[in-house]
Amino acid sequence: MNKKRKPNYKLRRIIARVIIALLIIAPLVIIFRVKIINAPLYIKYHKNTDVLNALFDAKFERKEVKEFMPKLEKKGMNSYTDDYIISLSNKGYKPKTIEYILLNFKMGDTKSLINSKYDKDLEKMLNNKLFDYKNYDRYMNERSDNEDIDRTILRVTLDLDKDNYSDTVEETDPNSLTAFINKHRYLNEDYIPDDLVDMSDDYANNYYGQLQLRSEAYEQFKKMVDDANKEDLEIYADTAYRSFKLQKTIYNNYVYENGYDKASLYAARAGFSEHELGTAIDISNGYLIEKGDPEYNWLMQYAYKYGFIFRYYEDNVDLTGFAEEPWHIRYVGIDVATKMHKENLTFEEYWIKYVNKKEAK
Ligand SMILES: [Zn+2]
Repeated sequence: MNKKRKPNYKLRRIIARVIIALLIIAPLVIIFRVKIINAPLYIKYHKNTDVLNALFDAKFERKEVKEFMPKLEKKGMNSYTDDYIISLSNKGYKPKTIEYILLNFKMGDTKSLINSKYDKDLEKMLNNKLFDYKNYDRYMNERSDNEDIDRTILRVTLDLDKDNYSDTVEETDPNSLTAFINKHRYLNEDYIPDDLVDMSDDYANNYYGQLQLRSEAYEQFKKMVDDANKEDLEIYADTAYRSFKLQKTIYNNYVYENGYDKASLYAARAGFSEHELGTAIDISNGYLIEKGDPEYNWLMQYAYKYGFIFRYYEDNVDLTGFAEEPWHIRYVGIDVATKMHKENLTFEEYWIKYVNKKEAK
């Protein structure tokens, strides 16, 4: 026997309505899910803000909100930060950036950020490992439209925004092949490398006095020159090691003949010349080497294989503080020179990245 049951139209109608409602609600939930999940947090931390406003204005991801807000709360930051968060977020700053600003920036700097246009360099700045908020004013003073902000930070880190020979520090590891001397870093007046050797007339112009170099640099220089000679190139040292006393005489003569301003760019004060390290050489082919000389081109290509680098060229005048000197090479060892070559780093960049990394943030 087959008892026919009357269909339950009422139940079916309810089910149909639920399905239609779900079809409408589901996409909304998917689209606004982050905001909906965050709603309780927003309501908790945006006590003074309209909840709807918070839901639609704030762009934070859940993770950041969870980590970020309690940090602010711990620092005693209360409701006034709500407006700052919303303002900075509306300008386009990322949660990580906002977090950094609110936790580290002085109120005045935060307010001036809020009152000015979105600064795309700021996010880049905060991502730079060398960024230090202590130097924020200096970055802002130094930055220019045509300079990459990372370069500005590097320059400030190297104190190159300061006056020459101000805030100087002594190089405490002068024997190191990566000892770093510039207009803010000097060698002790009594430093004399203990492995200086006399250069033979085959490799040096000893006419004005016997030239000397540290032994490892000299051995490598000889190899390099021998190989260059095989290519019919003429290379010899015109200047090598200079004592503190000699550098003092040279600098004073330069000031006397050319004036202080020119001396500041072209010559180094005693204690501040790489030549006092015993690893720097001014090279000549009869005249000091210039850009475009075949010797220059050959060295540009091969010098690193012998451990030598050019130190002062057109593109890094802003990092060295010295005018370009195509004739000035410096021995840093094969490993360092090769790494610089491979990673396309200037000596300053190498030093910051690999030698000074303990001091960097
Ligand atoms: Zn030189």
